[in-house]
Amino acid sequence: MEIRTTNQAHSDEIIHLLNHAHALVAAGNTSLQISCANLETHAATVTSNCFQTFQPLFLACLAGVGIKDLYIETCDASCSNPSINAAMQAYETLSQAMAVKLNVHQGLKPEAQVKPIQKNEPARRAFFKNFIPTVAKHAANTVEQVLADNKESADMQQILDQDKRNLPQLSKLFLHILPQLNINHIPVPYLEDTPLGSIQASEACTACGDCVDVCPSQALNLKPFGQRFILEFQADCCTGCQQCATNCPEQAIELLPSISLPSLLQQKARPLVMTQAQ
Ligand code: SF4
Ligand code: SF4
Repeated sequence: MEIRTTNQAHSDEIIHLLNHAHALVAAGNTSLQISCANLETHAATVTSNCFQTFQPLFLACLAGVGIKDLYIETCDASCSNPSINAAMQAYETLSQAMAVKLNVHQGLKPEAQVKPIQKNEPARRAFFKNFIPTVAKHAANTVEQVLADNKESADMQQILDQDKRNLPQLSKLFLHILPQLNINHIPVPYLEDTPLGSIQASEACTACGDCVDVCPSQALNLKPFGQRFILEFQADCCTGCQQCATNCPEQAIELLPSISLPSLLQQKARPLVMTQAQ
């Protein structure tokens, strides 16, 4: 049966979906979850745009390969895409002439687990690949150095005596030294395969918006605040490309040589600077 699609990529996608459905049925599972490719979160291993999924012939094919329940998680529960309704009506007509029936549900399969999609996942992996050896090595070197310097010192013994935790001595020393490593703001040395960055902005900012426009990662945003604006920055979106700094007419932005781990993990925007009242 031919599935009409608007281009080759869509056609490949449909074939991928049908293959997936076929494999599910072969494994004894007759329900299929498809999530909209535009969702921030999804519950399915297969994603597709609704205009691809909502085709009467595609629905008929799914029924043909043995799928009995199709769950479609659209980007909006009240998705008003008229093609969806048209496809459903056309499919209903088709299904009356078919021996098999496909139940189409909008929403999640009852047992579906919704998983948030990690933004910048490759960047994050690359970061931690560098982060672990860099920070762990730094921490280990510092501990080693402190231990070597203080081996015989009374201070060291005092630290160990005062710490009543049931821990090995080395662990107690490590925990004592840890805050001295300034672990919240670890300098990440420049490595080309660490595509993360952090910036700061000065009060020279006039809220012109140029940096927001040029940022390729939507890491910057200008938020109105009364008569003024707040320039917000989301660390986990920043790749350290420096476009914002290069294009700021006021030279208000500079790239920091370090990345704040908490702000990276927070995954939300934080204020960098508020423009001066005019
Ligand atoms: S930081 Fe520079 S480019 Fe960005 S809004 Fe302020 S003045 Fe404009
Ligand atoms: S350094 Fe690049 S990615 Fe980061 S905020 Fe500036 S323009 Fe955006």
